[in-house]
Amino acid sequence: IRANFSTVTDEDDDVTGFITVISDVTEQEKIEQERREFVSNVSHELRTPLTTMKSYMEALIDGEWKNEDIAPRFLEVTQNETERMIRMVNDLLHLSKMDNKEHQLQKERTEFIQLFHHVIDRFEMNSPEHIEIVRELPNEKLFVWIDQDKLIQVIDNIISNAIKYSPEGGKVTCRVIKQRHQILVSITDEGMGIAYDKLEKIFERFYRVDKARTRKLGGTGLGLAISKELVEAHHGRIWAKSKEGKGTTILFTLPLMGKKRRNNS
Ligand code: ADP
Repeated sequence: IRANFSTVTDEDDDVTGFITVISDVTEQEKIEQERREFVSNVSHELRTPLTTMKSYMEALIDGEWKNEDIAPRFLEVTQNETERMIRMVNDLLHLSKMDNKEHQLQKERTEFIQLFHHVIDRFEMNSPEHIEIVRELPNEKLFVWIDQDKLIQVIDNIISNAIKYSPEGGKVTCRVIKQRHQILVSITDEGMGIAYDKLEKIFERFYRVDKARTRKLGGTGLGLAISKELVEAHHGRIWAKSKEGKGTTILFTLPLMGKKRRNNS
């Protein structure tokens, strides 16, 4: 809170009164502080892959290009870093569109269970063999009012994290529970888990529990931040539960559509 004091004087400069203006600047300062942090994060995040690429390129130019063992590996690192940077810039553009309220969600009446099956099917086709995906989905039709592409992106983010942080032979359980006015979707893994005090932070932009490790896994630290924005744009809530060493569950809700309501947004 900021307070400004000024005095009120008459023609003879005699003080006849006081004015005190008290304004709440905390919110403004917080936004400004977040903006500064964000710019600094983006710069840092982009500098890291660029400096990595620079040093590998230098080594190649200095003669390693002739080394048949080393050259392909160095080029591969450069390619991976380039791909990660592209992913990051795309994610950033996406977030900035959402911040500017530019994004228009194309919501339509959608049967969620079928959509969820479809996303899991795709993962089963492409996921590594050492991961088992278990479905605990109700045997009924549950309708929600959603932008399908965006919701698929949310589920994709969560399942790919679950797989990424799963141990050899780990199980990933996809569950939907019908509640009164909403559905509760959860994805549970048997991975290393997340410490209690970090649980909320994972939805912040660029937050990673272990920077070096997740960078190696190709993460940008933006996936869950985007998921949170998207779920909230659908009037849902997203959060995490975890036991270190045991596993993590990411949960989100979506309002159920009333039987007759078709065009509400
Ligand atoms: P990233 O691209 O780094 O995975 P996310 O925004 O998707 O970014 O996740 C943020 C961080 O949350 C990750 O870097 C990781 O540390 C942690 N995290 C997310 N999902 C899991 C999970 N299933 N198990 C353990 N840690 C997780």
